[in-house]
Amino acid sequence: IFISLEGPDGAGKTTVLKNILPTLEEGNRNIITTREPGGSRIAEEIREIILAPENTAIDGKTELLLYIAARRQHLNEKVKPALAQGDIVLVDRFIDSSVAYQGYGRGIDVESVDWLNNFATDGLKPDLTLYLDVDTETGLKRVMTGANREINRLDLEKEEMHQKVRQGYLKIAAENPDRFVTIDASKSIDEVTQAAIDVIKERFPD
Ligand code: C5P
Ligand code: MG
Repeated sequence: IFISLEGPDGAGKTTVLKNILPTLEEGNRNIITTREPGGSRIAEEIREIILAPENTAIDGKTELLLYIAARRQHLNEKVKPALAQGDIVLVDRFIDSSVAYQGYGRGIDVESVDWLNNFATDGLKPDLTLYLDVDTETGLKRVMTGANREINRLDLEKEEMHQKVRQGYLKIAAENPDRFVTIDASKSIDEVTQAAIDVIKERFPD
C-alpha cells in the first residue's frame, strides 16, 4: 500500500505523518515512512542542492529536473523494495508536489511535468493521497513561527507563489477524486491526525 501526503508549506504533513504512525503500527503490516525530496542518501544530496540558501541561481527547469531525479532514485532504492515486501509506505510529498510547485507555482507547463513524473516513476502512482489543505496565510504563519522547522530557500518565496501552489493542489485534487482525499488542515494537529487515521483505516481496513 502506497500513501502520499501532500499540501502547501505549513499544512503539517511532516507532523501528521509522525503522529499517525503509532496507530498504524498496531495493524498487521510493516510500515515505512519517508520523504521527498530525499529519503535515500543520493536523493538527500540532491535535496541539499535544491534547498541550499545560496543556490538562488538554480533555473526553474533545472530545479524540476533535480526533483525528478531525486524522485526516481528514492523510488527505486527505497519505495519499490518496501512495496514489493508488502509494506505500507507513507511518503511526505510525491508526484503531485512537482505539479503543484513547479507546474502551477512556477508556471512550467503541467503536461511536461506530468510527462517527467511518469518518466521517473514508470507510471507508479500512490494508492491514496492525503491532501492537507490549508489557506496560504495560515500555512505561512506556521512556517515562520513553527519551532520544529528550518526555514529554507523556498519558504521565502513570495506569497503569490504559495497561493498558486495551493490553487494548483485544489485543481489536482478535483481532477483525481479516486486517489485524493482532502483534509482540512487549518484545524488542530490532533484533529488532522485523527482525520488522516480515519481515512486510512476506512480505505485499508486490514
Ligand atoms: O515538505 P518540505 O518542507 O520538506 O519541502 C521542502 C521545501 O521544498 C519546501 O519549502 C517546499 O515548498 C519545497 N518544494 C518545492 N517543490 C517541490 C517540493 C518541495 O518547491 N516539488
Ligand atoms: Mg514538512
